[in-house]
Amino acid sequence: MAAPVLDPEAEHSMDIILVGSSELPSPRPARPRRDLIAHEVKVNQRDIEDLCICCGSFQVHTRHPLFEGGMCAPCKDKFLECLFLYDDDGYQSYCSICCAGETLLICENPDCTRCYCFECVDTLVSPGTSGRVHTMSNWVCFLCLPFPRSGLLQRRRKWRAGLKAFYDREAESPLEMYKTVPVWKREPVRVLSLFGDIKKELMSLGFLENGSEAGTRRHLDDVTNVVRREVEDWGPFDLVYGSTPPLGRAFDRPPGWYLFQFHRILQYARPRPGSQQPFFWMFVDNLVLSEDDRAVATRFLETDPVTVQDAHGRTVRNAVHVWSNIPAVRSRHSAVVSQEELSLLAQDRQPPAQSPAALVKNCFLPLREYFKYFSAELTSCL
Ligand SMILES: [Zn+2]
Ligand SMILES: [Zn+2]
Ligand SMILES: [Zn+2]
Repeated sequence: MAAPVLDPEAEHSMDIILVGSSELPSPRPARPRRDLIAHEVKVNQRDIEDLCICCGSFQVHTRHPLFEGGMCAPCKDKFLECLFLYDDDGYQSYCSICCAGETLLICENPDCTRCYCFECVDTLVSPGTSGRVHTMSNWVCFLCLPFPRSGLLQRRRKWRAGLKAFYDREAESPLEMYKTVPVWKREPVRVLSLFGDIKKELMSLGFLENGSEAGTRRHLDDVTNVVRREVEDWGPFDLVYGSTPPLGRAFDRPPGWYLFQFHRILQYARPRPGSQQPFFWMFVDNLVLSEDDRAVATRFLETDPVTVQDAHGRTVRNAVHVWSNIPAVRSRHSAVVSQEELSLLAQDRQPPAQSPAALVKNCFLPLREYFKYFSAELTSCL
């Protein structure tokens, strides 16, 4: 994701001008001010699409995908970065309007995970609204309310499609984003897991219901003789998970075998080309793949891996490489661990505190936008 880059030279020369002209009014253009949004729209009759509702800037780059109003380029980048970020409590980490993380109001619709910052609510709805909402019980948010308008905040029609269009247009990721699914259409996720199991993790996130998992989950340890017909018969699946064997378990195959088999079965499980059905996959390497294998994985799976780590202070106790098309895996885990550190870790790892599946558990949280979940009680271990 491209972050805005400040030219250090430009900064420097600007400083010199400022120092030399201390009695003159600053030549710097006025900082965008959010508190002027209401004035601009109501008094100066400015179209709300012509200003950034996230920061008040007039340098509009695009339309805000969820609410009427514009968005400047830096706010667009921030929004894309935070779009699918969830906290361990299962709620989104940032404000659904401006993507800032300061004091947040949480939507209490049990099927919604969205949050809003005080400033957005006070600026765009009306001053003092955040305080009132804060004392309310059972507040539901601007995307869940039956009426589309609150003050200047007007929900866009068909915002789910709008969100997808926004992502497809603005994100640099080669991976497709699926349109999020409205609550009444969400079904339980159907999972195929290979080698490593994620039953426990999906259960604790509320994606699998206790006792009634028939038809929604299949786990395979040996896939040597599995053919396309069988996978098609067992399916359809919404999520295919695979991993190299966990540490301490003898593996009877070379590490690359797990990758090839995962890739083979993944092709059988994929929906037909052009299908709009949300379909997710994840392959986790428990640091046993060679550098060449990893390069092959990146080529086959058509995305770069992310390193997810279990760190205790500055000590990395365990780490895995993750290839996945689940949204936000990339922005959530931008851990910088050097390759040397990782190979040292791989050499003398003790049985780790967290299994690979536990390490990647919270990467599944964005699936809440697509599938039914049975329990909101999250017992996170990250
Ligand atoms: Zn902005
Ligand atoms: Zn906000
Ligand atoms: Zn809501």
